Amino acid sequence: MSGIVIIGTGLAGYTLAREFRKLDKETPLTLVTADDGAFYSKPMLSNAFASNKDPEALISQSAEAMAGQLDARILTRRRVAAIDTAARQVRLEDGESLDYGRLVLAVGAEPIRLSYEGDGADAVLSVNSREDYGRFREAIEGVGHVAVIGPGLIGCEFANDLRGSGREVDVIGPDTAPLGRLVPEAAGRAIQKGLEAAGIRFHLETVVKRIDRKDTGFRLSLDNGETVEAGAILSAVGLRPDTRLAREAGLEVDRGIVLDRTLATSAEGVYALGDCAQVAGLVLPYVMPIMHAARALAKTLAGEPTQVSYPAMPVVVKTPAHPVVVAPPAPGAVGEWKIESVGEGVRAVFSQGDEVGGFVLTGAEAVKEKQALSKQVPAVL
Ligand SMILES: Cc1cc2nc3c(=O)[nH]c(=O)nc-3n(C[C@H](O)[C@H](O)[C@H](O)COP(=O)(O)OP(=O)(O)OC[C@H]3O[C@@H](n4cnc5c(N)ncnc54)[C@H](O)[C@@H]3O)c2cc1C
Repeated sequence: MSGIVIIGTGLAGYTLAREFRKLDKETPLTLVTADDGAFYSKPMLSNAFASNKDPEALISQSAEAMAGQLDARILTRRRVAAIDTAARQVRLEDGESLDYGRLVLAVGAEPIRLSYEGDGADAVLSVNSREDYGRFREAIEGVGHVAVIGPGLIGCEFANDLRGSGREVDVIGPDTAPLGRLVPEAAGRAIQKGLEAAGIRFHLETVVKRIDRKDTGFRLSLDNGETVEAGAILSAVGLRPDTRLAREAGLEVDRGIVLDRTLATSAEGVYALGDCAQVAGLVLPYVMPIMHAARALAKTLAGEPTQVSYPAMPVVVKTPAHPVVVAPPAPGAVGEWKIESVGEGVRAVFSQGDEVGGFVLTGAEAVKEKQALSKQVPAVL
């Protein structure tokens, strides 16, 4: 059987390769990536502005070092254009083809882009890679005021970090409170208060309608009639699993690439993991699901078919001005939030009879309960 090809060298592609090499030192391994293949921790992108890190400082290993460590061929700055599952080949944009015995898609997610009226609309940037981080860092050079569109998890992390870099920050979005899709409103309000105390301004229940260029930056006109002046604009309105290659190859896709619990797609010998994946109906674009998926898939690829299991995986939100931990209830879970104030923040427990179905802790005092509550929430899968 010919070797394994992994498309993508993010956390998903590289963690899988590492786990696989622990079990199998022989099978030829090729990784292909559209970027430079440097290994870095993506969560650091939303807490590197305050410490003024340049993009190079985020790299923990170069592609060459990774290739040596993994005994793998790593093709960098090469984009896969198409997959032919019948011929078991991937075709690169430059025309070269690679044969595969097994193929793994670890292609990540793409930032959702909203459209705005005005001549400044094209200046809106998003940060979902080290290269994006470098571009945004250039855009805020000498800029004292940043607008963040999107008051979700990533938007709040960037807002806190940019505020920590000494800049004025305005956060804009349609939700009634920050992190509206993840936490009950009372918890969102506590987070808002904590971030406001750090000097961040929120414009909620409204959206950006137009963005006009001014002499020294931009004017954002909001739907509620307010305006915000900023020198740079960051969009953090969400990520969408990148299903393009999979869809064009005829694989089943839904919100993400549809996978069973062995991380297998609908095509023989083709697997996926990471931000592009939808495992047993779940799209979980976080680090911990990737670690569990990589371990299970490595075993499957090494000859021991293995289903992935997810334990409870609370997400720590990197907002030091008001720390937050979230373990969301399963989608569609029936129960009720029990919410109480603790110190500056909130302790919200999703109760399902006597069981704890999920929790949200906000503020330095409440987050101390993370370990104790984590033990009580059920496994995700
Ligand atoms: C700012 C930020 C902060 C975060 N903080 C946290 C956190 O604190 N905790 C947490 O759990 N999670 C966090 N996350 C989420 C976490 O970082 C991601 O879930 C994870 O990094 C995704 O890894 P991935 O390998 O699936 O995707 P990516 O890292 O996006 O990698 C995708 C790879 O695929 C390659 N690729 C794509 N298409 C092609 C193609 N056609 N041809 C060749 N190569 C291709 C790309 O070049 C890249 O190498 C954060 C995310 C962001 C954006």
